[in-house]
Amino acid sequence: MKTRIIYLLIVLVTFSYQSNASEVWGPTGHRVVGEIAQDYLKPKTKRKLKKLLKQKSMAFLSTYADEIKSDKRYNEFYTWHYVNMPLDEDYDPSKANKKGDLVTGIAHCKKVIKDKNSSDADKAFYLKMLIHLIGDLHQPMHIGLAEDRGGNDFKVQWHYSDTNLHAVWDFKMIDRFDMGYKELAENADILTKDQVKAYQEGTVIDWVNDVHILTKDVYSSVKKDDNLRYRYSYKYMHTARAQMQIGGIRLAKVLNDLF
Ligand SMILES: [Zn+2]
Repeated sequence: MKTRIIYLLIVLVTFSYQSNASEVWGPTGHRVVGEIAQDYLKPKTKRKLKKLLKQKSMAFLSTYADEIKSDKRYNEFYTWHYVNMPLDEDYDPSKANKKGDLVTGIAHCKKVIKDKNSSDADKAFYLKMLIHLIGDLHQPMHIGLAEDRGGNDFKVQWHYSDTNLHAVWDFKMIDRFDMGYKELAENADILTKDQVKAYQEGTVIDWVNDVHILTKDVYSSVKKDDNLRYRYSYKYMHTARAQMQIGGIRLAKVLNDLF
């Protein structure tokens, strides 16, 4: 009897460890964005961030906005993580979600951070939100269709297990690549100064429309219930890595402008 209880305990502990492990991997994309952004910050921006973020890295804080989804007090921020728009349309502010979306959410964060009357605590909160939202903006399925909730209802398989297109782009493909966020950041493609400058040009709305071109490609590349495997990663992992890099480069631009 005793051994059986011990056995059950081991199974339970192992199982809960495994389910946590899969959640721990999910945030890799956000951490890469934070880590890459660090390389493009001006010294003054770095100093201000260190103080406001209490020495924590952007990579560490990049997942905060997802973590607070488990806390009802933060329900009002739920819609900030995405924009829904038809595939043949650009972002139209007049059709924006009244509860907020990526564009209006980012604008609100910037406003609070810039406001001289904001407390340091508020600035820090909206800074953490901003770090996360610029990352979400560069994940093509965060600018997906309303009818399938950005691909969450678009059922596919990933290496024979049931999932959805949103999850494939959020973490399934990145996890399968099996590199930590630091290694992914270190191995980002080398860009010229002009390339970096070109990515940093434009407004947040331009960036949304820019990523939206990729969203269309992603939707057209799969059919419902497809079993996506190695060939999918071969075709798209480079795109996912590029999106994380561009996200980091643009996050740095937003922060340098703010500070
Ligand atoms: Zn998010």
